[in-house]
Amino acid sequence: MTIARPASGSARMCRMTNEPTGIVRLPTPPGPSTPGVRAVMQGNRATDTRPELAIRSELHRRGNRFRKTVAPVKGLRCRADIVFARARVAVFIDGCFWHRCPEHGTSPRTNGDYWQIKLDRNVARDLRNNDALAASGWAVVRVWEHEDVADAADRIEAVLEPRVAR
Ligand SMILES: [Zn+2]
Repeated sequence: MTIARPASGSARMCRMTNEPTGIVRLPTPPGPSTPGVRAVMQGNRATDTRPELAIRSELHRRGNRFRKTVAPVKGLRCRADIVFARARVAVFIDGCFWHRCPEHGTSPRTNGDYWQIKLDRNVARDLRNNDALAASGWAVVRVWEHEDVADAADRIEAVLEPRVAR
């Protein structure tokens, strides 16, 4: 899979019902500083990014059935991109920019404070959601948008299969 730009904002909906206190307030979003940044911000769609579509379609081709973009746990404001309800496996396709991929994550210099807080917050939220889901008996699989689709599907199935079989 090629990465043209930060495409996924899968942190977008994943907000715990109760934010921890003392959290840093996010400043008002800056206006797009360049056409490139504008394109990135417009690309921050809620669902159905290209990597999500590719992985869903590969999983489906292999005979897996799942729900998409639903909250795995009632009361937890966190929507996973792919949900296997019976097996209790939640899959997130994380955008390299939005979730600070170690290989492709960047810290924009323009409006640096804003992005620092925003991206740190996304990462913290991912960790909280992982913990909350695990506490409810769910397995969480996080896939980077840069990952090979077949490898990602293998990884998801490896988590899925023992949980379906038991
Ligand atoms: Zn990446």
